[in-house]
Amino acid sequence: MDCLFCRIVRGEIPSTKVYEDDDLYAFRDIDPKAPTHILLVPKVHHSSVNALDESSAAVVAKAYVVLKQLAEAEGIAQSGYRIVVNTGKDGGQSVDHLHFHLLGGRSLSWPPG
Ligand code: IMP
Repeated sequence: MDCLFCRIVRGEIPSTKVYEDDDLYAFRDIDPKAPTHILLVPKVHHSSVNALDESSAAVVAKAYVVLKQLAEAEGIAQSGYRIVVNTGKDGGQSVDHLHFHLLGGRSLSWPPG
C-alpha cells in the first residue's frame, strides 16, 4: 500500500517515534506547528474520521488515553494542549490516513484559520 503513514508505521520511511503499541504509532510531525507536535495514528488504515464505524471505536478511545499520556510525557498536560483531527479537503486533511495531531508548548489561538 502506498499510504505514507502506513509506510511510516511499517518502518519503510523513517520517523521520530515517540510511542508504539499493538494498535497505535506516534511520531513527531516533520513540519511542527508548535514546540510539541506529535502525530498519533492507528496502525490499521482508516482514511479519515469518515471511515470509522463501531468496530473502530475501541482504538479511537484508546488513542485519547495515549494522547493524554503523551501530553504528560511532553510536560504540557497542565499548561494545556490541543488534539486536532483534520478531516477532508475543507478540514485541511493532507494525508489520507486517520491521525490525531497533539499540539502544545505555546498558547494556541482560536478559532483556527
Ligand atoms: P493533515 O494536514 O492534518 O493531514 O496532517 C498531515 C501532517 O503530516 C502534516 O502536519 C505534515 O507536516 C505531516 N507529515 C507529512 N509527511 C510527514 C512525514 O514524513 N513525517 C512526519 N510528518 C509528516
